[in-house]
Amino acid sequence: MIARHAAPAPATARMPRILVVEDDALLADGLARGLAQAGFAVTLCARGELALAALRRGAMMDPSMRILIVEDDATLGSGLGRILQSEGYAVDLMARGEQAVQAVQRERFDLVILDVGLPDIDGFEVLRRLRGGAQRMPVLVLTARDTIDDRVHGLDLGADDYLAKPFAMPELAARVRALIRRSQAQSGPRIVHGPLALDTVARRAFLHEAPLDLAAREWAVLEVLLARVERVVSKESIIQAVASWGDELSANAIEVYVSRLRAKLEPAGIRIRTVRGFGYMLEEFRETH
Ligand code: CA
Repeated sequence: MIARHAAPAPATARMPRILVVEDDALLADGLARGLAQAGFAVTLCARGELALAALRRGAMMDPSMRILIVEDDATLGSGLGRILQSEGYAVDLMARGEQAVQAVQRERFDLVILDVGLPDIDGFEVLRRLRGGAQRMPVLVLTARDTIDDRVHGLDLGADDYLAKPFAMPELAARVRALIRRSQAQSGPRIVHGPLALDTVARRAFLHEAPLDLAAREWAVLEVLLARVERVVSKESIIQAVASWGDELSANAIEVYVSRLRAKLEPAGIRIRTVRGFGYMLEEFRETH
């Protein structure tokens, strides 16, 4: 049986997401592949109760943080993208203002980094349209013109922060973290699973309260599995949640991240089970002694 599920609210929709509730693993995997190829995001559940729980808890929402960079300087844009990806964010890069306005209306972004000087409409006009369309995600404005007038203008239009070029990448990364932390302040930031705790705002993991070193992609994979404990998650849907647009991420790469996670987590009794030809399941944590 396939349950179609529209994302909870248009503002949080990434792409149409379909929940497949099917306990035949082979059939479910075939469905997931077909739907993914047709452009849908797919979540698989093997048990009815778990599917209901997933819907109630809003687990159909993509857990990874997504940032839109609007910058027509290709070198700067891709440099920013790499830095932010290395911090664990999914990143989309666009060079034109109109394109960015349309993307934000269509998809969910947790933060927008917006250059002022763009080839079509300028960044201020983009900002005006975003706020006019009731888009409330944080916006960090970048400009070559460091004048008080520009700064005031941007803030008046609803920018949350302002950075003049040239800037240091670590400063940009720190501002991004601060903006996201501020906008997420209301939500419960910690996911706990036995001895493992994830601080979803600071993006830090702890095992028995000691900091656990995870690479950005390992973090993202773990976050997806943790949002669906005791449920089978297909490789396809892990790729969907972890990769950004135009990013080639193979099923083999996911296997590598999972095996690294296992090496770090299994000593603490946290198990990621392989469901052959299908995906993975983070098992319920049970004290062994
Ligand atoms: Ca520019």
